[in-house]
Amino acid sequence: MTSNCYVVYDEDTLRCLVIDPASEKSLREIEYIEKNGLTLDYILLTHEHTDHTWGVNALLGKYPSSKVICSELCKEALPREAKAYFQFYYDDPDYIYNVERVDVTTEELNWHMEWVGHSIKFIATPGHSPGSVCIAIDTMVFGGDTLMPFKPFIKKRNGGSVEQFQESVKQMVEAFPADTIVYPGHGESGQMKDYNNNIK
Ligand SMILES: [Zn+2]
Repeated sequence: MTSNCYVVYDEDTLRCLVIDPASEKSLREIEYIEKNGLTLDYILLTHEHTDHTWGVNALLGKYPSSKVICSELCKEALPREAKAYFQFYYDDPDYIYNVERVDVTTEELNWHMEWVGHSIKFIATPGHSPGSVCIAIDTMVFGGDTLMPFKPFIKKRNGGSVEQFQESVKQMVEAFPADTIVYPGHGESGQMKDYNNNIK
């Protein structure tokens, strides 16, 4: 998939998180984890679209003790997305991809967790999809398809809403310092102030 996947690790403990793994076999992610001697604790999903989830099962197969976290609405929507994208990216028209399991929802965490001395905050940002969240880890923000260098495609059929999307972007831009580095779901990273454009 052409989306961005991020491996975030703590330099002291070498524990890591993977955000939005989306290549079927997660080969590059696994190689990176192994090469750097990292231990995978969590797989975080910014939203339910398969171009952000396709690699989850491969990572779970390799690291069965890691846990998958996403929002309640993302968890609910994952089965609905099982066929999306594959008509374009896969040879077999009957191919279905179901994320094997979600272990914890952001609601169950009350939208916040501490992880090896780091603060992880989940912010509900519906619009691109109902289950979309942005993830703030210390001073970094992972924007999923809510904060990107360009406006994402918004599919109304599966619960997307342009108005909600604009509201979510506005909420993020107002909540974080303008020079916050944002790591988007697609494209190059930028600063929070650059994402103002998406509101218009
Ligand atoms: Zn998406």
